[in-house]
Amino acid sequence: MTEVINPSTGDVLTTVPPLDLAGTDAAIARAQKAFPAWRDVAPGDRARLLRRFAAVVDEHIEELARLEVRNAGHTIGNARWEAGNVRDVLNYYAGAPERLAGRQIPVAGGLDVTFHEPLGVVGIIVPWNFPMPIAAWGFAPALAAGNTVVLKPAELTPLTAIRLGELALEAGLPEHVFQVLPGKGSVVGQRFVTHPAVRKVCFTGSTQVGKSIMAGCADQVKRVTLELGGKSAGIVFADADLEAAAAAAPGAVFDNAGQDCCARSRLLVEASVYDRFLALLEPAVRAFRVLDPASEMSQMGPLISSGQRETVQSYVDDADVAFRGSTVDGGGWWFPPTVLLASGTGDRHWREEIFGPVVSVLPFRDEAEAVRLANDTEYGLSGSIWTRDVGRALRMSRAVETGALSVNSNSSVRYWTPFGGMKQSGLGRELGPDALLSFTDVKNVFLAMGE
Ligand code: NAP
Ligand code: MG
Repeated sequence: MTEVINPSTGDVLTTVPPLDLAGTDAAIARAQKAFPAWRDVAPGDRARLLRRFAAVVDEHIEELARLEVRNAGHTIGNARWEAGNVRDVLNYYAGAPERLAGRQIPVAGGLDVTFHEPLGVVGIIVPWNFPMPIAAWGFAPALAAGNTVVLKPAELTPLTAIRLGELALEAGLPEHVFQVLPGKGSVVGQRFVTHPAVRKVCFTGSTQVGKSIMAGCADQVKRVTLELGGKSAGIVFADADLEAAAAAAPGAVFDNAGQDCCARSRLLVEASVYDRFLALLEPAVRAFRVLDPASEMSQMGPLISSGQRETVQSYVDDADVAFRGSTVDGGGWWFPPTVLLASGTGDRHWREEIFGPVVSVLPFRDEAEAVRLANDTEYGLSGSIWTRDVGRALRMSRAVETGALSVNSNSSVRYWTPFGGMKQSGLGRELGPDALLSFTDVKNVFLAMGE
């Protein structure tokens, strides 16, 4: 049995039986068996089923959100958004089966058409930081394209995924079309990589495990989408609305206690306004409301585990702390929002993904240096540019090597638009109008006209 812990208190919430290898194989076999019938469901009917799934999720937003507050320590406001995001992503891709049109291509001697064929069984491996949305970004388009899905939640946070699996059945999805398989990454997740019936793996998590999954998938030329780590930069120019940039900066890195692959964990500030920006940032950090995540007022809860807290602490131990926010005493894995001053780009806290409520600040001289510093990383997931100069905003947008960039905003994720990383932050894109295609293969058919 795997114990599921409430990270706000350290108490055991419940236990979940993990699947072993035989159980995983049996589930994959059921998914494989369910595939032909699901593929052949008429597009309009598949759309209707996904909309019904979305409607059932909508009826359970509060229940799912409360479950995530207890299991992951997410604030209730965030958790409601996350459950709503599952509903929205399902609705968005419910529009896809009826629009999954191929092409008719002019050729000599006949008719040429293409089909977007589903792949078969798709395996989705989810981390603990956003259990609901990351699962849905995989399963919604995968199901819409006609695949069956096996989903492995993180051992630390399986509860909302298990509930979503039940809600899918309640909504009328056929049995074994969408199965949730709790268990270890090294057992269940690894089996997705090695089992020949699983035709694609969607992985979100650490860059280290992502590389091993990509290498493993090569053996069967298995399709793979990777959403990996980040060390994204918020770049603040002297001509920006500094008040707005400073007010937004805490949320951009302390949201979800910094356990966000899009966290703007490097803040680059133009040297001429560096002191003024820090003076504006300090009260915003001190005012960030670290509270019981069940409280409607809470802006930040605890870290996910004691191990994660130790890791995060190790980055702060020898660093130059500028100022910190508040924290909560007592059980659980609490950590205060922390602002570090980088002495240069060599600092470990500047280079590595911390995945905690820690931001490192460094001044820059001019646009060219901002670009150089921002790109001096193997990551490239997200980032922000704060400036009132439209030309500069455009130049910077093209120059910063990252997959999801915002100007005068810190938002990264909108389900209508593509999301994913450049460089070692990932491979492929999720969400947006094109994600569905990565759950299909193109088949080209030529029909001879005859004499
Ligand atoms: P992780 O080890 O990469 O885990 C992510 C998921 O992969 C979990 O479901 C995990 O299962 C599974 N997994 C682990 N080893 C596997 C394997 N060999 N084959 C298949 N699946 C496997 O990430 P973590 O240990 O939870 O977090 C470590 C660090 O990764 C974090 O501190 C952070 O820096 C980064 N991270 C990034 C993201 C992101 O969104 N990009 C998300 C989470 C973590 P288990 O249930 O057994 O863990
Ligand atoms: Mg791990």
